[in-house]
Amino acid sequence: MDADKTSQSQAPQAPAKTAKPAALHAVKGMNDLLPPASAQWEWLEDKVRVLMQRFAYRNLRTPIVEPTALFVRGLGEVTDIVEKEMYSFEDRLNGEHLTLRPEATAGVVRAVVEHNMLYEGPKRLYYLGPMFRHERPQRGRYRQFHQVGAEALGFAGPEIDAELIVLAQSLWQELGLRDVRLELNSLGQPPERLAHRQALIAYLEQHIDVLDEEAKRRLHTNPLRILDTKNPAMQAVAEGAPKLMDFLGEASLAHFNTLRALLDASGVSYTINPRLVRGMDYYNLTVFEFVTQSLGSQGTICGGGRYDYLIEQIGGKPAPAVGWALGVERVLELLKEQDLLPTATHADVYAIVPDASAMPVVFEALHALRSQGVSVQMHAGAGEGLGLGSMKSQFKKADASGARFALIFGADELARQEVTWKSLRDGQGQQETTPLEGLATFVTKRLS
Ligand code: ATP
Ligand code: MG
Repeated sequence: MDADKTSQSQAPQAPAKTAKPAALHAVKGMNDLLPPASAQWEWLEDKVRVLMQRFAYRNLRTPIVEPTALFVRGLGEVTDIVEKEMYSFEDRLNGEHLTLRPEATAGVVRAVVEHNMLYEGPKRLYYLGPMFRHERPQRGRYRQFHQVGAEALGFAGPEIDAELIVLAQSLWQELGLRDVRLELNSLGQPPERLAHRQALIAYLEQHIDVLDEEAKRRLHTNPLRILDTKNPAMQAVAEGAPKLMDFLGEASLAHFNTLRALLDASGVSYTINPRLVRGMDYYNLTVFEFVTQSLGSQGTICGGGRYDYLIEQIGGKPAPAVGWALGVERVLELLKEQDLLPTATHADVYAIVPDASAMPVVFEALHALRSQGVSVQMHAGAGEGLGLGSMKSQFKKADASGARFALIFGADELARQEVTWKSLRDGQGQQETTPLEGLATFVTKRLS
């Protein structure tokens, strides 16, 4: 249309009718989070923030997209994540190799190094946000999922490993979760792992006929991961393999035993699982997982461990570190399973406005209410036309909103500088009138 020829008085024209466009869908394995379920996420996030504050962990927010090299270097080339789960792409504009973060520890370490955050001493940090892995979507396993993570960087002693485990345990307690078990292991230090690795390869070579293709491929790259197999045919061989624990030296054993003593002192029970190895290459000494029987095969709700060599690997001055990450979807699923989720949230008050001419007064009154912390849902016109709808239809909406009370800004009441207050829940809708002046005080009294 030629803009010059459009006169001011002309009504805006509806766009020309075209064929209905094909429906668009969210990417498979990536979910929209709608109300009211989103309120349960906010509730969980609030619990997390309060608890992190209690343990003096501070929030860190890093980008969703990182250089691909960060994960290849950080997680290890022969890991499930780097081999087959990453969303990697080339930036069309400058050719940079980028990846949607599959986990956040590598990014946290990058940020800590980049901003020289350990300069003034060790740091306790936490994060919360989406991660991306190209996996087969199923219950408890998505392509966009969310993690809460806690990381303590610059601390070498076992007491911080214990603190982090107690922190996670406190979260389960705070949420009221039951049937969560802690599994613990020590991976020792690199030379100890090397000695074990050689013994393990020799052992696995003796059983080569039992190994599946993936295991054979990993025999000389990542034999430890073979012990983590889900293939039933390989269970017996995995059970009988040389145990890393038997290769640990004095210092590694001391670290592990002190951690155990501190967990005992905190009343945190655990089982030692010598086959617990975790998916990333970067761990040493302590590794652990919190698992539940209640979620089927996606039963690990939280995993973590020590990663004393990652900071150096990513280009920082060598410094020890330890951390964990929990899967938000799985924790919420477990809360749901155990009937621990809060019920939906509603506004306290629904404002009924029989005539649009009252709106300026309504806005002033609602502003005063909201300033006092009262949650108010205002009636507004919906659908075609400019009308607000009949009283009857407004009351229907007020009932459906779940609000406990209605405030009715009727013309007669307003003429007397008053409004009507009506209970929507108890009995047969008791009601009373109250002056507009001091309305916020009246309402907060009625709500308390
Ligand atoms: P799994 O063995 O179940 O694949 P993982 O060892 O790959 O887990 P981590 O990388 O340790 O998982 O991530 C920590 C936590 O994040 C897991 O314990 C789990 O609760 C959650 N998590 C991992 N991958 C997914 C996913 N694809 N969808 C939902 N949650 C996930
Ligand atoms: Mg995985």
